[in-house]
Amino acid sequence: MLLAEIISVGTELLFGEIVDGNAAFLARELGARGVNLHRKTVLGDNLGRVTDAVRLALSRADLVLVGGGLGPTDDDLSREAIAAALGETPAEDPELIAWLEGLYSARGRVMPQINRKQAWLIPSAEALPNPVGTAPGWFVRLTGEGGRPQYVVAMPGPPREMNQMWREQVVPRLPLPDQALYAVTVHTQGLGESDVAERLGTLTRQANPSVATYFRKTGVDVRVAASAPSEGEARALAGPVLEGVRADLARWTWGEDDDTLAGAVGNLLGGRTLGVIEAGSAGMLSTLLADEAGFHDAAVTTDHARLITLGLTPVTLRDAGLVSEGAARELAAGAREHLASDVGLSVVVNTRGENAGQAFVAVDVEGRSKTARIDWGGAPDQVRERAAVAALALAYR
Ligand code: ATP
Ligand code: MG
Repeated sequence: MLLAEIISVGTELLFGEIVDGNAAFLARELGARGVNLHRKTVLGDNLGRVTDAVRLALSRADLVLVGGGLGPTDDDLSREAIAAALGETPAEDPELIAWLEGLYSARGRVMPQINRKQAWLIPSAEALPNPVGTAPGWFVRLTGEGGRPQYVVAMPGPPREMNQMWREQVVPRLPLPDQALYAVTVHTQGLGESDVAERLGTLTRQANPSVATYFRKTGVDVRVAASAPSEGEARALAGPVLEGVRADLARWTWGEDDDTLAGAVGNLLGGRTLGVIEAGSAGMLSTLLADEAGFHDAAVTTDHARLITLGLTPVTLRDAGLVSEGAARELAAGAREHLASDVGLSVVVNTRGENAGQAFVAVDVEGRSKTARIDWGGAPDQVRERAAVAALALAYR
């Protein structure tokens, strides 16, 4: 199995002005293609440090992917660094010069002299065409210890250029195993991540198929993935484990893969209609439900008088307050009655002040209601989102 490292070059990456989306993309690609990624390094535009990083990566990996630093300016140093790490001297390649000059003349311009270094090559490097930019990549083939092949690949920083070069030029040149990945993500609600892990037992410790849990806004996701030479074999390998996970978590599962929690609620409605009353969540619940067929009507308000016309009783408001279980229950019933819906859903939430993060949600189906309480602080937008998701989860349960 190929062992890989990624080196991302750019001062703006190092200081967090942009995030390293390229490395995230490459990491996913490598995983799906059966390459073992061991390290990611982020460095500024510094010749010495990039040179050291390439040398060090080559001392322990088969494949070194260098991203960025292929531009024409003085701070674009990846070519120089790779050449220095390998003890080779860059020279202008006449074909690349001709290609670059052609790019400029096609736009009625003369190629600036600083762009000449984009036509550099070293003896062990092959140029990778870049159909969407002016920076060709480098594909370097080396012979490492014991005759084992090693590769250094340099790709441009702009994501569109990097993605295309990776797919069209780099992947076909690498000795990748014939690997197909089959993965299914099961979405659950109502269990904590450690509860899910406990139910899955030793399953999460195996490698192929792998079973991993992820905590998401909508609950805990469980991803089962297998890789094998063909899609059919990968599917067969994942099958028994996937069936086991599905069976163990059936009570808490609301969907798989691209399903959404709002979609799951929508499906559950069948032909019935859903009305929503929101106080404090600024329409977040309605936004999540917007595309569902049964979503019928919504009222979004914190105005007490208006909420009273929607079913909140003055007694509850006085004794328990707006953010209370009683208020949520009355408003869920009110959503059915006053918004002429079969199912009523409500959320009442405090996003600011002492009780920020406290919320109650309620669902009412034919006069039978359920409620849930959420108490989890955070920024107002997080609180609103959690409350809205909790309402969907309650409606689904
Ligand atoms: P250029 O010819 O544009 O200078 P380059 O190969 O030298 O290309 P960089 O200068 O490192 O690449 O990056 C150019 C731009 O590409 C950055 O300003 C940034 O917008 C984007 N970029 C670079 N590296 C990454 C990365 N790792 N993830 C996401 N975006 C990136
Ligand atoms: Mg640059």
